[in-house]
Amino acid sequence: MGGLNRRDFLKLLGLGTAGIVGIPVVSSAAELPAPVPGSYRLKRAKETASICAYCGCGCGLIVYSEDGKVVSIEGDPDHPINEGALCPKGISISDANTIVAENRQRVQNPRRVTQVLYRAPGSSKWEVKDWDWALKTIASRVKETRDASFETTDAAGVTVNRTQAIAHLGSASLDNEENYVIHKLLRALGVINIDHHARL
Ligand code: SF4
Repeated sequence: MGGLNRRDFLKLLGLGTAGIVGIPVVSSAAELPAPVPGSYRLKRAKETASICAYCGCGCGLIVYSEDGKVVSIEGDPDHPINEGALCPKGISISDANTIVAENRQRVQNPRRVTQVLYRAPGSSKWEVKDWDWALKTIASRVKETRDASFETTDAAGVTVNRTQAIAHLGSASLDNEENYVIHKLLRALGVINIDHHARL
């Protein structure tokens, strides 16, 4: 399709179909009618491509934001998986970011977690940490636990090279490629307790 992207192609296709039912066809994307000023509610919004976090299908989204706040989310017509469509769960994904306030207006959800929170063993308080601290702490605890629990053979002398002291629980929002990489890492560590919260 030369320089024509999927969105331009769909626009032209829609106009072509309109031509069949009697509306004059515009011959190129450059000749599309100019938008009427003030008619498009997202005209000032910034577009960011993203992925739906609700299931492993990994449908593409366009997130519209203004002043750093999400104002709308829709399916990405250029995404090869969903081609702009979203299921009922995906189409309501704005609810992950906003809530309906008492005055019935949609507002940012003040309870959304945006920082690393850590609760030490035995503590009842959450502490705010940064990602560097979190990733280093996770890595050192995984190493300590693996070193202390690694088994090269089982009770019958069979080679197993495993740790049974670490388990991994996957998420439905992981896509195929993420699951592949995570599985590689866990198998390399000798982790054998691997599960998924949706039991897929
Ligand atoms: S929840 Fe729906 S929209 Fe989201 S990835 Fe799954 S199928 Fe796609």
